[in-house]
Amino acid sequence: MFKFAAKYEWPKGYTSAAVLSADVDGESPYIWRNRGKKVEMLGEIEQRRFGPRVGLSRILGLCDEFGIKGSFYTPAWIAATYPEILPAIAKGGHEAAAHGYYHERVDELDEAANDKILAHSIKLFKSQLGKAPVGYRSPSWELTPAVHRCLRKRRFLYDSSLMGMDVPYSLDGLPEIPVQWFVDDAPYFRYVGGPTDKTPPANPNVVVDGWMEEFEATREFGSLFMITIHPWISGRGQRIRMLRKLLTKVCNTRGVWVTTAEEIARHHQKSANAKKFAMKLKLVSTDISLP
Ligand SMILES: [Zn+2]
Repeated sequence: MFKFAAKYEWPKGYTSAAVLSADVDGESPYIWRNRGKKVEMLGEIEQRRFGPRVGLSRILGLCDEFGIKGSFYTPAWIAATYPEILPAIAKGGHEAAAHGYYHERVDELDEAANDKILAHSIKLFKSQLGKAPVGYRSPSWELTPAVHRCLRKRRFLYDSSLMGMDVPYSLDGLPEIPVQWFVDDAPYFRYVGGPTDKTPPANPNVVVDGWMEEFEATREFGSLFMITIHPWISGRGQRIRMLRKLLTKVCNTRGVWVTTAEEIARHHQKSANAKKFAMKLKLVSTDISLP
């Protein structure tokens, strides 16, 4: 009856998987949010610059400490502004993937504009790394059928922006390596002050407890533990220490495939999962009347 209750097949020897993913946003969401306005406030900009300046190298160092490879989604504007970023990611053997231009909301742009951004990202990645990105994550995890179409047209291997399953699945043939808000650092720690942020950032010792519980749950259900962090948020000292605690647990648990989203997408496509977890992309009709 429940078609998708089938067990996901991980590579031999593994019963669940874990990915450390980082969205290297830096100042780009601030620029998009304030586009066209004349703003002269350094507070949030400098806070965000901590990511490219310090946070990213600490996260790359943490990956080296544990001998793991992660997936790093980087807006093209950030890659162009900090030309050392993509090469540093690639040098560590990690996956460098696309994440918009200015971290724009894709639903605020038409298909042609979104497609142009993808084309530009591919060109930039090629110029800095000698190869195109195979992975894509939409800014703020919003996606539209039009962008999905562009990703397929431009032959991206996978998308990682949606939450329709807790194992990899596909929409119209494009693998989706799913994300999850409760293992994203932003809802707990993103704090820029000003009129919007009133509650203080969470205690990392409490957060890591919840993330460990989710890790245990992915072990129980044979699903994917996809952590999403941001260097400007999680590059801060106490969160690096929190991630170290988490990775100590994840990397020392047998049967967990700790890898990149790209490797998972490749496995998905060549395994029986590709057929078992295939779905059609569809919207819902909101033009309704009550029965
Ligand atoms: Zn982002």
